[in-house]
Amino acid sequence: MDFSPWVHTALDFFFPAECVYCHDFAGDDRTLIFCRACWESIVKLRPPSCPRCGQPYRSMVVMQHTPDFLCGDCRLSPPFFDRALSATAYTDVIKEAILQFKFHQKPALGKYLIQLLLSCLPDDIDWADYDAILPVPLHKIRQRQRGYNQSVILAKILAWRCNLKPMLANLIRIRATGVQWPLKERRQRKQNVKNAFRLCFPERVKGKNLILIDDIFTTGATVNECSRILKKAGAQSILVLTLSRAGLSDT
Ligand SMILES: [Zn+2]
Ligand SMILES: [Zn+2]
Repeated sequence: MDFSPWVHTALDFFFPAECVYCHDFAGDDRTLIFCRACWESIVKLRPPSCPRCGQPYRSMVVMQHTPDFLCGDCRLSPPFFDRALSATAYTDVIKEAILQFKFHQKPALGKYLIQLLLSCLPDDIDWADYDAILPVPLHKIRQRQRGYNQSVILAKILAWRCNLKPMLANLIRIRATGVQWPLKERRQRKQNVKNAFRLCFPERVKGKNLILIDDIFTTGATVNECSRILKKAGAQSILVLTLSRAGLSDT
């Protein structure tokens, strides 16, 4: 029987019976859309890490003595966001799940990816402290090609789960930047997104505590440029949440 992609999406939503990576049996409440072996292979990021950008540290020792010890990158060039947290390291299993979510017309996977994110976040986040959640925007041409923006879906689901106010039509991408992934250098990535974003209603972020959500954190250039625009408009604080962190040396 030939189902349309949207029927498949609906079926996947209710019966995610196959592991998104290896197609083995999946679907127990704990392992979500993965089989047990793939679930166990996912590297969930836990402390210790840089309190600003979330870069994992190898040893707990430094944090025991100096809990606010910043990584070299944050000391050299402090980001505009106040804190960034990622759920997982960007290894094969999670990469495939995010690829399917983004490019294979499977927006329903977002529900499980948010569940994974929530299960990895530290307990000290009080959702009531935040005024709104914003997705990292796609340029309208890219969004038209893809059909949807994965970060908007993530923002909507997290808003619903944590009783946050979604702010979906304020921060927009005004420049269709080239893709970030082939650019290896931090400086190139920074340049690629420079002045790519704009706020339609800057007054709505003034004095607000905001959450910015995206799928992958690599050097943080994209979320940092969004944060720069938000802070320039008077945002009080910005927490960046991402599903996965790429470019970690030991994973
Ligand atoms: Zn599997
Ligand atoms: Zn850092």
